[in-house]
Amino acid sequence: MSKVEEKLFENRYRVDEGRPHIAIISADVCEGKCTAKQCTYCCPAACYAIENGRVVLTTDGCLECGTCRVICDDHFNIEWSYPRGGFGILYKFG
Ligand code: SF4
Ligand code: SF4
Repeated sequence: MSKVEEKLFENRYRVDEGRPHIAIISADVCEGKCTAKQCTYCCPAACYAIENGRVVLTTDGCLECGTCRVICDDHFNIEWSYPRGGFGILYKFG
């Protein structure tokens, strides 16, 4: 049984430079109001991280699963859309 990191490596991702398809609306809300910071441990691709006390989002490698959009349901602080056509995740095995 392979690890999740090995499975994710099978995917390919086409970056849309300068046009991330997901954004944190207010960093202040993350920092000041969200105590759980659930996005940092619920994203299967680890797109959210805490760096120097702030929540940082890197959409490269995003699986477009929608989890972050759903779990930020106490603050609705994520602006979420699919990448433009031709960009984003490329699933090799369907
Ligand atoms: S769950 Fe939402 S409000 Fe909380 S840290 Fe993540 S993006 Fe910010
Ligand atoms: S859509 Fe899924 S993979 Fe993409 S950033 Fe949100 S939780 Fe992570």
